[in-house]
Amino acid sequence: MAQRLEDKVAIVTGCARERGIGRAIAMRLAREGAHIVAADYCRSISEYPDAKFGQAAELEDVVANVRKLGRRAIAVKVDVTDESEVSAMVEAAAKEFGRLDILCNNAGGGVGGGPVMQQTLDSWNRTVSINLTGTFLCSKHVAPKMIAAGNGGRIINTASIAGKRGGPGMAAYCAAKHGVIGLTRSLALELGQFGITVNAVCPGFVETQLFEGLINMVGATRNLNREEVLKTFVAQVPMGRMESGDDVADVVAFLASKDGGYMTGQALNICGGVETH
Ligand code: NAD
Repeated sequence: MAQRLEDKVAIVTGCARERGIGRAIAMRLAREGAHIVAADYCRSISEYPDAKFGQAAELEDVVANVRKLGRRAIAVKVDVTDESEVSAMVEAAAKEFGRLDILCNNAGGGVGGGPVMQQTLDSWNRTVSINLTGTFLCSKHVAPKMIAAGNGGRIINTASIAGKRGGPGMAAYCAAKHGVIGLTRSLALELGQFGITVNAVCPGFVETQLFEGLINMVGATRNLNREEVLKTFVAQVPMGRMESGDDVADVVAFLASKDGGYMTGQALNICGGVETH
């Protein structure tokens, strides 16, 4: 395979989980020649025991797999909603590699949820923070390093088709992902002059551990088993199958490469044709 990203350095947040989109992105960028800063939350939230986050052992597994490809990698425990932790992650990455070329703001998900009239302010705030504030903070701290190096850069945000349409029981997540697209567009206008592109990818139905929460919610609401729920999702996809993390990673690899260098401020649907308007 052509090494489109030879010796570039990429931070990928939210990449610990085995079936996750972030892990597929980290491994794809590494196969393209990039060194990887693998970042994830590595803890749990006692108030939301059902919310599953990537843990340290999983992150170490990503690092080991990247190193097997002959690339360098470090694991960083970070809460992307905490500015001091984000700053420490960026400094650790810059110290280790001496450069930062690609930022994949992939950490996301949500806690709580449900109908707006029943949603707590705490679960709303946390969901918006994980998806939107985290993307803001990581971009805020990485962009100055890219600008100072003078080599341009790539910021690629994992939004969602939920950033282009509503979803019952998912208002906080949808609002946050719409916000990620607004942030993407604004940041692209600010950073174009430095040769830094900023784009969002909008996956559809990816069968990750995060998606299991949605499967459970739909199953409970409509009294369907897992296979029946999956069929209802596939029925909405013109391509006729669930999406994989690699489907997303393929487009991220393009956006991260020289080939994607004149595309910025875009929110690209990668969803097998699911309607978003
Ligand atoms: P995932 O659970 O594997 O990935 C989400 C990751 O974000 C986890 O590793 C989690 O630990 C991490 N994370 C959450 N809060 C964090 C925090 N505060 N600090 C650092 N890391 C944190 O699930 P996924 O489906 O692979 O999701 C990856 C991204 O794709 C998310 O942004 C999600 O919203 C988005 N997405 C997923 C789907 C889907 O169908 N699965 C569709 C569209 C968009």
